[in-house]
Parts: sequence; structure tokens; C-alpha cells
Amino acid sequence: MSLEEDRSIPPGLISRSDLLAAIEKDQLFLLYQPQMTPDGAMLASVEALVRWNHPARGPIGPASFVPMAEEFDMMDRLGAWVLERACREAQRWPRLSVAVNVSALQFRSTRFAEEVEAIVRRSSLPFDRLELEIVESAYIDDFGAAETVLRRLRALGIRIALDDFGTGYSSLTYLRRLPLDKIKIDQSFVQEIDTVHSAAIVHAVVALGRALGLKVTAEGVETEAQQRFMRAAGCHYLQGFLFSRPVPAEAIDGMLDRDGKAPLGAANVA
Ligand code: C2E
Ligand code: MG
Ligand code: MG
Repeated sequence: MSLEEDRSIPPGLISRSDLLAAIEKDQLFLLYQPQMTPDGAMLASVEALVRWNHPARGPIGPASFVPMAEEFDMMDRLGAWVLERACREAQRWPRLSVAVNVSALQFRSTRFAEEVEAIVRRSSLPFDRLELEIVESAYIDDFGAAETVLRRLRALGIRIALDDFGTGYSSLTYLRRLPLDKIKIDQSFVQEIDTVHSAAIVHAVVALGRALGLKVTAEGVETEAQQRFMRAAGCHYLQGFLFSRPVPAEAIDGMLDRDGKAPLGAANVA
């Protein structure tokens, strides 16, 4: 099994001490997935996706252990590890932004903005090369506090993306209440564009995003037909297995030419 593949294990099998060991003994690592311009010609940014190289079970995907980190109240530590590593590794790609997923449990804390600022400053990554991806969550009950935290982050130059857009219960409330720079259309819509409903929703979401001055990314683009559709619909960026699976940092190096651009086709490595 390669590092680009991962298995899931029942979250109940993960203990607090296992997870602590994962963070402290450097058993975690990041893969990066390209976000492309709609023609697939240029790599615009990468999304950092955490994996756990479990000593007994091999690489484990985040769906198995991120929810456990939330349950064990360890999301701050896991999140800090991911952010620190992503900022450090992103230094090697001066032309690219790096997107880091953030649990709602992290940015619910009023200290979150200061913690992010400290980590990014230590790494010396320019703030405007960092994007934080948040998802709708039942944990966000105080929109006023969340808004304050996000405004502080944006004042530094950090961009905020709303991930998995359309899958929550209150997507429009998030758009109305929170300061955002980007929405990422959830892959479930992208993969169903041959149904009238999903196609209509994608068109409406792109129009909505553009009307609000937001960038729009389509996630989970797997086929050329999906790419054509999302490009015609007006998405600014596309992400999905068609271009590349999540890969180690060195593989991103290999996709860039000397100017830090990915020439046509170069990203089709997966
Ligand atoms: P996400 O942020 O929406 O990330 C996209 C997920 O979709 C990734 O799964 C990626 O491998 C997968 N994906 C990308 N393109 C395609 C495609 O074309 N087809 C299909 N079927 N899947 C595609 P992954 O890496 O397993 O991550 C799952 C989720 O775990 C992420 O969804 C994110 O919510 C969470 N996650 C990952 N890393 C972190 C992290 O460092 N911190 C936090 N809080 N959450 C994380
Ligand atoms: Mg994401
Ligand atoms: Mg997503």
C-alpha cells in the first residue's frame, strides 16, 4: 500500500494515548492535493490533507481519527501540528497557496486567531499564501464569536474558504454571517451533474458565489465531462482525482516547472 492510499479503521479502535503518540512521535504526515485552474493547465494552490502512519495498521485516513481528536479534546494539538507542518512545507512552493482544514472546535476558541498568527509567523510563510478551510458544524453556535475570529485572520491576509458547501443545514446563513473568500462546492454535487437537480444547484451556487465576490472551487472532479461542466459553469478552480490524488510534497515539486507553474498535463500524475 502506497502513502497515497489510506484505509479507514473504526474510530472506536483509536485511543487517546495512541493519538497523542501519533502527534508526539511524528507518526502523522501531510499529503497535498492540487487545485487547478479550470483548464487544468496551472496549479493554483494545494490542499494539505493529514494522514496517520499507524505503526501497526499503516496509513490511516482522517475520517477515522479527526473525529476522535475532536472527541478527545485534542483538536487544538492536532490542528497546530497540521498548520505548522503545512506552513513549513509550503515554503518550497513560492508561487502556491496552501489550504489547511480547520475543525470548528478550533476556531470556536477566541485564542485561535492569535495561535494561527504565532504559528505562521514562526514559519515565515507570508500570510497571504495561507487559506483556512472551515466546514459547517453544529459546534458553531456563536456566529458573532466566529465572525470576530475570522475577521482577525483575514486582517492578517489569510483567506477563508467554506468547505463542502451545500451539505450542511444552514449554508446560506454561513454565507450571510461569516466573512469568506471562497466556497468549495461539495463533491457530491460535482459527481452527480448528470442529474438535473445537481446541475441546477451547481449553476446556482456558482452564480451566488460570484455575486458575493467569492472564488468558487469544485471538489471531487474525476472525469473530463465534469471538468468541462464546471469550467463552463464558471468555477474559478477545480480539484479532484482527474488532476491528481493527494500526494507527498515531493510529488508536487515534480509538477512545477522552474517558474513554479504546472504546464498543461503535468499535473495528471495519478
Ligand atoms: P475535504 O477537506 O473536503 O478534502 C477533500 C477530500 O476529498 C479528501 O479526502 C480528498 O482525498 C478527497 N478527494 C479529492 N478529490 C477527490 C475525487 O476526485 N474523488 C473522490 N472520491 N474524493 C476526492 P481525505 O484526505 O480523506 O479527507 C477527508 C476529510 O477529512 C477532508 O475533507 C477534511 O474535512 C478532513 N481533513 C483532512 N485533513 C484534515 C486536517 O488536517 N484537519 C481537519 N480538521 N480535517 C481534515
Ligand atoms: Mg478541505
Ligand atoms: Mg470538501
